[in-house]
Amino acid sequence: MKQRIYRNYFWVALTTILIVSFVFVFSYNRTIHDQKEEGMREEAEFISALLEKQGDADVDFQAAAGKTDFRITLIAENGMVLYDNKVKDVSGMENHAKRPEILKASKNGEGSSSRISSTIQSETYYYARKLSDGRYLRLSSKGLSIWSGFVQVLPALTGIALFVIFITFLIAHFLTRNIVEAINGIDLENPMEHLVFPELGVLQKRLGFQNRKIQTQMQNMKEQEYKLTAITENMNEGLIMLDADRRIQYMNQSCQDLFEVSGSKFIGQTISGFCDSIPMQEVVESALKGNVHTAMQELDHKKVQYFGNPILENQKIQGIIILVLDITERERTERMRKEFSANVSHELKTPLTSISGFAELMENHLVAPEDVPEFAAKIHRESERLLTLVNDIIKVSQLDDKEVYYGKENIDLLSFAKEVCDRLEPMAQSRNVTVELSGDAVLYLASRQLMNDLFYNLIENGIKYNKPNGKLWVTVSEKKGHPCISVKDTGIGVPMKYQSRIFERFFRVDKSHSKQTGGTGLGLSIVKHVVEYYGGYIEIHSKMEEGTEIVVHL
Ligand code: ADP
Repeated sequence: MKQRIYRNYFWVALTTILIVSFVFVFSYNRTIHDQKEEGMREEAEFISALLEKQGDADVDFQAAAGKTDFRITLIAENGMVLYDNKVKDVSGMENHAKRPEILKASKNGEGSSSRISSTIQSETYYYARKLSDGRYLRLSSKGLSIWSGFVQVLPALTGIALFVIFITFLIAHFLTRNIVEAINGIDLENPMEHLVFPELGVLQKRLGFQNRKIQTQMQNMKEQEYKLTAITENMNEGLIMLDADRRIQYMNQSCQDLFEVSGSKFIGQTISGFCDSIPMQEVVESALKGNVHTAMQELDHKKVQYFGNPILENQKIQGIIILVLDITERERTERMRKEFSANVSHELKTPLTSISGFAELMENHLVAPEDVPEFAAKIHRESERLLTLVNDIIKVSQLDDKEVYYGKENIDLLSFAKEVCDRLEPMAQSRNVTVELSGDAVLYLASRQLMNDLFYNLIENGIKYNKPNGKLWVTVSEKKGHPCISVKDTGIGVPMKYQSRIFERFFRVDKSHSKQTGGTGLGLSIVKHVVEYYGGYIEIHSKMEEGTEIVVHL
C-alpha cells in the first residue's frame, strides 16, 4: 500500500512540476513574443513615417533601427525583396509574397508571424506593414524558441522537481505511516470500540457489521456441522464420502467399526488404499458416471452391502457418498428362514406321505379286514405326529415374532414342574425311567404356556433320550435372585460337537431315534426361544453314555 501511495505522490508531483514548467515557459515565451512584436511595430511605424516623409534614398535604415538588432526588409508589392539591411545582394533572395506576415499585411495593413529554425533552437518573429505606395516594410528579430527556453530552465527545473519529490516523499511517508498505524490499530474483534479517525468510521462500522455476520454464519455452520456429525456418527450404517478424485473426505464411526480400522489415517487417501475390492470399485466407478449402484462383499466374518450415490452440483459430479450396510444378520435370518421353510416342507411331507399311502391301500381294499385296525392306528399315529409338528412349528413361528404378547402370572415353578412330571409319568414308566423332583418353591412372573413348553420339552427329552432303568432329576432353585431349573438324566449323552447345535431348529443327533420317539426336532429350539424371551441363558453339560444336564437360568 505504501509503495502505491509513494508512486501516486511521485506522479502527482512530477505531473504538477511539468505542467507548471510548461505553463511558465509558454507564458514567458508569449511575453517575449509580445514585447518583440510591440517593439517591431513601434520601429516599423517610425521607419514607415520616415519613408513617407523623406523617400527611400534619404532613409538610413540602419540608423532608423537605432540600437535595435532588428533586421529590416523592404519588399516590393509583388513580393520581390528591394532592400535588406543584413543582406548585401538582395537579388538572390526568394520572393516574399507568400510569407504569412506579408499576406496578412496585404489584407489588413499589418501582419505578424513567427517561425522556428530548423534546429528548433531559435525562433524568428516577423512584423510587416503595408506602405502607402503598396510596398511592404518588414522587421524581424530572433529570439529563443520555446523548446530552447525549456532546455534553459531544465537544470533549475530538475532541482526543483527533486526537491519537491523529496518533500512529497516525506509527506507521503508520514501520512501513510499515520494512516497505516490507525488502520492497524483497529481492534478487529470490536472495531467500533475506539474511533481512530472520523473518516474511518464507515470502515469500522462495516467491519463491525461483517464481524457480526461472520460470527452468525460461523455459529450456523457449527450447528449444521454438529447436527450432521450427530446424525452420521450415530447412524448404524457406515458412511464414506469421497471427492471427485476418489479421495476419502469423511468416514463415520460405524464404517470404521465395520472394517475394524481407524478412519483418520485414510482421510485424504484414495478409496483403493482403504478397500480395493471389486464390489467397492464397481460402486465408485458407477457413481462417478452418475449412477446409483449397489454391490455386496464378504468381509472376514461379515457380509456388507455398498450403496454408491453421486453428489451432483450443477449437473457436475462433486463427489460420492457410499453407504455401507452390515447385512450379516439379515443374510443369516434369511438363510435360516429358507432352511426352516425347506425343513418344514420336508418334515410335513413324511407323515403325510405315510397317511396318504395307508389310506390309499385301505381305499383300494388292499388291506385285509383283520389288518385294518393296525393301519388305522398307523394313520392315527402319523396324524398325531403331524399335529405335534404343526403345533411346534406354530410355536416357533410365534416365538420368532417378537410382537406376540403371552401374558404373565405368578407361577410357583416347583409345583409347575411337578404338574409336568405327573403328566409325563406314563411315558417315564413305559421306559422305566425314575423321575425325581426336588428344589425350592420359586415364584416367577411368566406365561404358563411358555413355562409349560420349557419344562415339558426338557423333561420329555430327559425321559426320551434316557437309558432303560435310567434316572432323571429335575431341580428348581433360585440363584442370585433368579430362577434356575436343572434337568439331569443318565441318558445317551450329546456328542461335544453337537452340544450347541441341538438348539437349532430340526437338528437331531440321531434322526431315526428322534422320530421313533415322536420327536419333531423343534423341542430345544422352543426352549431356547422361551429362555431368550425371558432374557435368560442355557448351560449344557453332557458326556456320552453317562448323561446330560441342561440348566436354564431365567
Ligand atoms: P426332538 O424332538 O428330536 O427331541 P429336540 O429339539 O428336543 O428335538 O432335541 C434335539 C436333539 O437333541 C434330539 O434329537 C436329540 O438328538 C438331542 N437331545 C435333546 N435332549 C437330549 C438329551 N437329554 N439327551 C441326549 N440327547 C438329547
